[in-house]
Parts: sequence; structure tokens; C-alpha cells
Amino acid sequence: MNEHYPFVNPPLPYAYDALEPYIDTLTMHLHHDRHLQTYVDNLNKALKDYPALHDWSLEELLTNADRLPADIRTPVRNNAGGVYNHIFYFSGMSPSDTRHYAGALYDAVVRDFGSTDAFFQRFKDAALSVFGSGYTWLTADGSGKLSIITTANQDTPLTRGLCPVATIDVWEHAYYLKHYNDRAGYIDDWFQVANWKRAGELYRLCVSELS
Ligand code: MN
Repeated sequence: MNEHYPFVNPPLPYAYDALEPYIDTLTMHLHHDRHLQTYVDNLNKALKDYPALHDWSLEELLTNADRLPADIRTPVRNNAGGVYNHIFYFSGMSPSDTRHYAGALYDAVVRDFGSTDAFFQRFKDAALSVFGSGYTWLTADGSGKLSIITTANQDTPLTRGLCPVATIDVWEHAYYLKHYNDRAGYIDDWFQVANWKRAGELYRLCVSELS
């Protein structure tokens, strides 16, 4: 996703109001058009004077921090992370009911968590446990084993060698307008629009890439 510099803010893969009533239209406008746009702009600004980095992908920028000039290491970590995480989050939602299209991911969830209900509960507990701003992820390792992890700020699972399958953004800007401080209500609503078809496709890619 999102090749290299100059990075762009891709349009949402659905209408701004498509996730109503679970995720409200105004939040989607602000979250996509302003928050994500700001990460895109700041990432491009950080990279502008470093032509050697202009053919690096987001993933390369995020996983090779030690090869970045020291003065842009932090802005690249935060803003490349912000771009990667937001595109992942937005593409990971859908107005369609995708629960029956998770494919091999469904079997892996049952294998690694016991049941889909047990998985949802553990994912929700993890998302509730994020202190301050961050994300909760479903990830796969090289053997295809699933884990639920949390990341702070705009950090990604990529730096831990894990392959991301699904994520929820639990920064307050993702839910405050509709859910106020009710993060649990937001997580429940996110489950209604999570795109399990895409998660299943990503899981399949994770397993073939990492194995
Ligand atoms: Mn966000």
C-alpha cells in the first residue's frame, strides 16, 4: 500500500456515511481528511530533503529506523506509522457483513483463541487496556499463529516482525464525537463494521510471506 514519496491520502474505500450508525460521518471526515492528511503531509515534509529515501516504501521506512538520518528518525516513525496505521484501519472496515468470509482466518481464530466469542472478548480487553493513544492488533507470526497485541502512539507491529491482520484505532479522535469517553461502546461498534474478508485475505498473505 502507498508506494513511496510523495505519499498520498487514498480515498476511503466506501462513502463517509457508509459505516453509520456504528462510526459516524463527521468522525470519518475529520479522521480521514484531517488526521490522516496531517500524517501524510508531515511525512512528506520530513522526507523532502532526503532524496535517497524517496523510493522507500512505508514498510521500509518503518522497519529500517537505524538507517534513517537521526534528525528525521522520530518524525518518520510517528508519521509513517500514522499513515500506515490509518490506511490499515480504514481499509479494515466495511459496511457489508463480512463475518462469513474470513476463510482460513476463522479456523486460526478458533484454533488460537478457542472461539470467535473468546477472541472478541480478548481483543476488546486488549483495546480497553491501551493507556493513552494507540492501537490494538490481530497479528500473525511466521507459523501463522495469531496474537493480540497493542501498540502505543503510531507504532506498528512491523517492527516486532509480526504481520498485521486487523486493527482498531483507539486514539480518542477515532470515537470521541459519537461515543464520548465510552471506548467499550466504540469497540463493540467497530466489531460490527470490521472487514473480516480483508482480514482473511491478509492472514493468507501473512502466512505465505512469513513462512
Ligand atoms: Mn486515528
